[in-house]
Amino acid sequence: EKKTAKEYVNEVYETVQKRNPNEHEFLQAVKEIFNSLVPVFVNHPKYMDYGILDRIVEPERLITFRVPWVDDLGRVQVNRGFRVQYNSAIGPYKGGLRFHPSVNASIVKFLGFEQIFKNSLTGQPIGGGKGGSDFDPKGKSELEIMRFTQSFMTELSQYIGPDIDVPAGDIGVGSREIGFMFGQYKKIRGSFEAGVLTGKGIEYGGSIARQEATGYGTVYFINEMLKDQDFALKGSTVVVSGSGNVSIYAIEKAIQFGARVVACSDSDGFIYDKNGINLDTVKRLKEVETKRISEYVDVHPDAEYFEDCTGIWSIPCDIALPCATQNEIDEATAKVLVANGVKVVGEGANMPSTLGAITIFQNSNVLFAPAKAANAGGVAVSSLEMAQNSGKTSWSFEEVDGKLQEIMTNIYQNCMQAADEYGVPGNLVAGANIAGFTKVADAMVAQGII
Ligand code: GLU
Repeated sequence: EKKTAKEYVNEVYETVQKRNPNEHEFLQAVKEIFNSLVPVFVNHPKYMDYGILDRIVEPERLITFRVPWVDDLGRVQVNRGFRVQYNSAIGPYKGGLRFHPSVNASIVKFLGFEQIFKNSLTGQPIGGGKGGSDFDPKGKSELEIMRFTQSFMTELSQYIGPDIDVPAGDIGVGSREIGFMFGQYKKIRGSFEAGVLTGKGIEYGGSIARQEATGYGTVYFINEMLKDQDFALKGSTVVVSGSGNVSIYAIEKAIQFGARVVACSDSDGFIYDKNGINLDTVKRLKEVETKRISEYVDVHPDAEYFEDCTGIWSIPCDIALPCATQNEIDEATAKVLVANGVKVVGEGANMPSTLGAITIFQNSNVLFAPAKAANAGGVAVSSLEMAQNSGKTSWSFEEVDGKLQEIMTNIYQNCMQAADEYGVPGNLVAGANIAGFTKVADAMVAQGII
C-alpha cells in the first residue's frame, strides 16, 4: 500500500516533532516549508521513493563545542559554540555565524534549514549551513571579542575549509569578527585560504558590495515584485526594523529608489522621523560608534524615540521591511500593519514573521516576500566572493552589484514560475519553498541515498 504525498509529508513531520521536542523555532521553519511541499511529492513520486524529505530535514552533522575565553578581569568564561552542516547536495555548506545570547540548537537548526533553500534559490553552487554561539557581544571590549572569536575559531577550524564549509556573518558577527576569525584560521593552518570565510575586509579577499548585499538585495527584490503592480517604491512610506547591516543597506537602497523611510530600531526601541530618517546619523551611531539608536534624537530633535522595539510596527507605512530578527511580527502585529494599510512586507531578517502573521498578510492581499527569497542577496554575494577568491581576482562594484540585481530578479521570477506551475499563482511563500527544494531534491536523487 503506497502512501499519498500528504501522508508522507505528515508522517515525516511527526518524526521531526518527536525527534526535536521543544525546538519551537526549528519546528516553525520546518512546518512553513513542509506546508508547501505536498504538491511537489504528487508530481515527483521518486522524491518519496528516495526518502528526500526524511533525509533533507535531518542535518548531515550538528557540531557543538566548548568555547573557553578569559575576560578583561582575568576570569574564565565558557560559551557554547555550534555549527550545523545541514545539506551539501549542491555545494559546500554555506551560511553565517550568529553571536547572540538566544543562540541554541533550535535557532541554529531553523537558520540552517532555511539556508538550504535560500542558497539553492540564488542559483549559486552552495549547500546549507549555519552556526554561532550564545556569546553576548553587547558590552564586551574589543579584546574580549577578539579572545572569544579566536577561541571559537580554534575549534571551528577543524570542520571548515573553502570546499567543505564556508561561514560568514549574521547577527553579532560583522567584518571585525570575520577578520579576527580569518587571522586565527590562517595561523592554525599556516596557509592563506581566502575562500574559507566570506564577508572579509576588502584588503584581504573580501568582495566589494558584500556589506551592502543583503539590504540592497531585499529592496531589489521588492522593486522587481512591484513591476507587476501599479505601485512603486518611489514616493512610498517605508518602515525598516533593526539598524544592523541588513537594515542600514535596505534603508540606503529604498532611499535611492525614492522612498521615504520614517523609522528604524534596535533591541531597546525605535525612532520615528517623519521627515525621513537621516542615514548618515544612523550609520555613524551604529557602524562607527556602536551606540544605541535612542541617541538619534539628540542629533535630530524633530524625531521621536520610543522604548519599545516591536512598537515600530504601529507606524503606518506602505512597505514594511522587518530586518531585525525572528518572530518580530506576530499575528497581533500583522493585524495592526494591515489595519494601517500596509501593501508590501519584505523579510530582510530570517523568519521575522510567525506562521499566523504570514497567513494574515496572505489573506489580506498584502504582497509578501518571504525571507529565503528576499534576503538571499547576502549569501549570493558571499558566493561571488568565493568565486573571486578561487579565481584569485576581484571585481568592481558595478560588476558585483549588477550580478546581485540579476540574481534577485531571477529569484523572483523562479519563485513566481514555481508558484504558477504548482497551482498557487502569486504565492511567493510556496514558490520559494518549491523552487528552492526541487533543485536540492534533484541533486540528492542524482547522488543516491547517502
Ligand atoms: N547570514 C546571512 C544569511 O542569513 C549570510 C550568510 C552568508 O553570507 O553565508 O543568509
